Amino acid sequence: MKSAPTLLNARWILPMSEGSGLLEHHTVVVQGDRIHEILPSATALERYPTAERIDLGQHVLIPGLINAHTHSAMSLLRGVADDVPLMEWLTQHIWPLEKQWVSDDWVYQGSMLSACEALRGGVTYLNDMYFFPKATARAAIDSGIRAGVSINVIDFPTGYAANAGEYIARGLEAYEQYKGEALLDWTSAPHAPYTVSDETFVQLRELAERLDIQMHCHIHETQHEVDESLKQYGVRPLERLNKLGLLNERMMAVHMVHLNEAEIAMLARQRVHLVHNPNSNLKLASGICPVTALEAAGVNTVLGTDGAASNNRQDMFGEIRAAALLAKGSTCQATTVSARTALEMATIRAAKAMGRGDDLGSIEVGKLADLAAVSLDALECRPVYNPEAQLVYVAGREHVSDVWVGGRRVVKQREITTLDTQALLNRADQIVGQMKAGHAS
Ligand SMILES: [Zn+2]
Repeated sequence: MKSAPTLLNARWILPMSEGSGLLEHHTVVVQGDRIHEILPSATALERYPTAERIDLGQHVLIPGLINAHTHSAMSLLRGVADDVPLMEWLTQHIWPLEKQWVSDDWVYQGSMLSACEALRGGVTYLNDMYFFPKATARAAIDSGIRAGVSINVIDFPTGYAANAGEYIARGLEAYEQYKGEALLDWTSAPHAPYTVSDETFVQLRELAERLDIQMHCHIHETQHEVDESLKQYGVRPLERLNKLGLLNERMMAVHMVHLNEAEIAMLARQRVHLVHNPNSNLKLASGICPVTALEAAGVNTVLGTDGAASNNRQDMFGEIRAAALLAKGSTCQATTVSARTALEMATIRAAKAMGRGDDLGSIEVGKLADLAAVSLDALECRPVYNPEAQLVYVAGREHVSDVWVGGRRVVKQREITTLDTQALLNRADQIVGQMKAGHAS
């Protein structure tokens, strides 16, 4: 028997599908986990007189936002070390703390916090990179968010694994346990060219091909990374990875701040997806990704927040706005990265980067019902001339009222419906208290 339909009536719907414009006074009919119909509200009420109705009022209904790069568990390290450059931040603060504290439970609790923050901000998909992927998988399932979980490798010993072989084995064990879960995708995720050997890169490429999954890697984040690669390998990191056969449509290359013209042309030619993290790059003083040049070349650029330890706000509205403003300010071109383009980077383009373009990223009949309702009713959001631009230049995550993942209402009038957030915060306070005191329980 088919499940009963639910009607979502909104003042505006922004489908974000190719060539689509804004719909006014329309209704999305959700049946089960998918979008069954999109039609004028008056027609929907006639056709489904007995269906459950949610009247959203002065809202824009958008596809759930996709955060294409984060380290969810790191919400427990939010604010632990600010105002320091990347290498100092990593080697003197983050890596020592991770070595001492990271565990399955730590990752689960941090990932739960990030999932709740994401959902309340209209994000329905987190593409994660971290250790203890079983914990990330459990957190996604328990909170009701969709996630890309990583088979992650960093070529030095941590509290998680001793060497590349052990990292891969543990990642595969998680994959085998959770494969087939509706909310989860998997990525093969070498951490970065400066932390992973050639041999491991090749192993992870072969793994991605064998499992038919995407790859997820930090690349060309800082000038220092590029300079060190030239010293150690005689080539820039991208050239090294290209020789290893890693640069193709499977690759989600994160950051990519320092690029030359030939590299940009190669990324376009080889259909590499680029994950731009504007606020993380600004805060860690890494530089500015040349998005305008990438757009001109036709590279599929999408958006991520990076982890809460490097970009303390896990706020995709902030990334969308920053992407639009930074591209304009850094090139003196007001027309580059329009509001529409910036929204595409967090929706339909990001779904394609994850290999999920057929199922996610836009409001279309047959796609999964991952949706966010953004209220433009607040004083600071008025007047409304252009709802699309209003989402980018005016509204923030605080205006997200309701969120659905696979048709399940996971946020209802700003409250998470899937779990007790107070209990989660109490447990997080306990963990952070232990870390501050410097000892485990
Ligand atoms: Zn990162």
